[in-house]
This record gives sequence, C-alpha cells and structure tokens, in this order.
Amino acid sequence: MNRSTKGVPGSSDSDVYSRRKSALWESQELEGIDAFLVTEPVHHRYLCGFSGSNAYLFLTPAETLFFTDGRYCEQSDDEVRGAQVEIVEGPLRDALKGVVGPGQSVGFEARRLTVAEAEGLNSSFPQVEWRPVEDVIERLRLHKDESEVAAIQRAVDIAVEVMEEVAGKLEPGRTELEIAGFVEESLRRHGSEGSAFEPIVASGLRGAMPHGRASTKPVSEGECVTIDFGAVWSGYHSDLTRTFAVGEVERQFIEWQGVLGEAIEAVLALVEPGFPCKELDAAARGVIDEAGLGDYFVHNLGHGIGLEVHEGPHLSRSSSDSLAEGMAFTIEPGIYVPGRGGIRIEENVVVTGEGPRLLTRTPRTLEPPEK
Ligand code: ZN
Ligand code: ZN
Repeated sequence: MNRSTKGVPGSSDSDVYSRRKSALWESQELEGIDAFLVTEPVHHRYLCGFSGSNAYLFLTPAETLFFTDGRYCEQSDDEVRGAQVEIVEGPLRDALKGVVGPGQSVGFEARRLTVAEAEGLNSSFPQVEWRPVEDVIERLRLHKDESEVAAIQRAVDIAVEVMEEVAGKLEPGRTELEIAGFVEESLRRHGSEGSAFEPIVASGLRGAMPHGRASTKPVSEGECVTIDFGAVWSGYHSDLTRTFAVGEVERQFIEWQGVLGEAIEAVLALVEPGFPCKELDAAARGVIDEAGLGDYFVHNLGHGIGLEVHEGPHLSRSSSDSLAEGMAFTIEPGIYVPGRGGIRIEENVVVTGEGPRLLTRTPRTLEPPEK
C-alpha cells in the first residue's frame, strides 16, 4: 500500500519518520534508556505525522506505539505512519500498563510534561525508573530537511502575499484591530492553517512597544505601522514583520529603516555553517550602535522557526548555539524609541552549505506596495 503522500510533503513519510527515530536513538541523552515516552504534540507530528492534540508516542529502539483517544480514530488512521496505533478509553497512561515493566528505564520529556502528568506517571508506575530527558527531539529539529524547508518556504510565501495585501489597506481611520482582522482573514484565504501567533499591529507612538498588541487605536496620517504575523503550512511556521508609513512620515523613520536594512545585510553576510549565533546578534547590534541607536534595540536578534514559531537556534547575546546547514531562523532587528515610535523588519532565512537563503522576498521599504 502506498501511503506516502500524507503528512510531510514531498517525501515518503515512513522513511522520514524512521530516519528521525534512528537519529533519536543515536542521541547521547537516550543512552541506557529502554524506552522514550513522547508527550509533546509537536513531536508526534515530527515523529509519526499525527497533528492532533491528545496522544502518547511510546518509542523503543525496536518498536513505535501510538496511543490516542476515540476522537482521533479516523485522524490517526489517516495521519500516523510507522507506528502501531491503539485507541484508548480513559486516561492515556492506562495504555502503558501492558507496555512498561518493572525496572525498565523510561525517558520522558521533562520540559513538555506538566508536574501533574509526571506525578500521575510516577504513581501509576512506581516500579518504572522515569528518566527526565530534555531537548533531545528539539535538537534534532534544528536541522531541517528539504521537505521541511519547502514547508517553511510555503508558509513564508503565504505571509508575503498577506503582507502585501494588508499593506494596501493601510488607510487613516482604520484601527489596529481592524488591520489585525485583515491579516487573519487573509491568512486563511491564502491557505494558512491558522495564525502562527496573534498578529501584532502597532502604530504611531505604540510602535515603540516591540510586542504591541493590536488596539482600538485608529491609524493616522503621518504614522508608521508595524505589522508582525506568521502563516502555518503543513505544521511549519513563518514569522514576518514590516513597518509601513501611512502618508508622509518624519525623516527619522526613514533613517531608522536604513539602519535596520544595513543591520540585516551585515548579518546575512556572516551566515554560514559553524558561525556562532551570538556573533550574528553582535553584528546587528554593532550597526545599530554605530548609528547611535543601540539603546533602542531592546530584544534578541532572532529565533528558529519550524514546527514551532519560536524554537532553536537562539540568536541572542548569550546564545551558545552555532549555525548549521538546515537551520531556519528569523533576523528581526528593531528600533523602539519611547515617545517617538518604532520600527522593525523581520526576515526568515535558511542556512545552506553556500550561505544564507533568504526566504522572505518582499521589499523592506516603508512605502507600502502600490494598491
Ligand atoms: Zn515576528
Ligand atoms: Zn519573530
């Protein structure tokens, strides 16, 4: 039976999942562990294709068991590949009864499990040695394969179309909330599975808030509007920001925009496998500092994107990550001056053997595109 067309686009799913599971078992963190209980939904998608929310994936080096509840009967049949599916009545952990044995060492995702869930496992299976495991699947996910990059590119392409469409609707009198509504509607219409996060729309003085949530404030002539949102395609996220001028704006904004453009170019020039992420952050900060605006770039340079909209690598002053082929991340310098306003540009890139591949191909100018 050929069931290779679902889940991860453009590749044979079972092969992809078995490759990922083999890589997982090669991780140092799983040494000496008999089985690994994966509870994080994003990781179910990564390791077997399931996109629902309530499941346990129980991995051993030899087999993969997938447990979910009756609501997901059809969906699991449709999506899950490379795992034996069992529908469970009652709490999912009951399904482990016939699976885990005394003295077995079972890893669990320490960062992804609530204290209550962990305690439930402990009290139901006191004879099992539960071993907290951190970031092991997250580390695998840092390196995107071709089909993952293709999904991110698709999510970026949707976001670019939405950005261009919404920019054409920026008119004095429209509220930030109304603009956020355009973003959400347009995302859906262009095929996004949803919003990567609640769209940020910040105009005028509110632009000085890096994460200004859309408000009832109407946009006025002579203001800048920062719009930040992401699309989701096949579970993969994009994250795009542009700042647009509504009518004629003060010179400072045009200068700041130029500085951000330079900062992004300085970063792109350094992107290659092996380069330390904290030095990318430093390169952008250097350009902004030199323009005398260093105090106003108040957040990290960027973050990884993938099955989650914020994941590794971390592009910050204190990051210990280094770039590697297949990493996808944002570059998002901003300038925020209280009482005056702010701007941000956010690009999405992938690291290739030859350097950066810029995924977000849309102008960085303050000028909105022609209507
Ligand atoms: Zn963003
Ligand atoms: Zn971002």
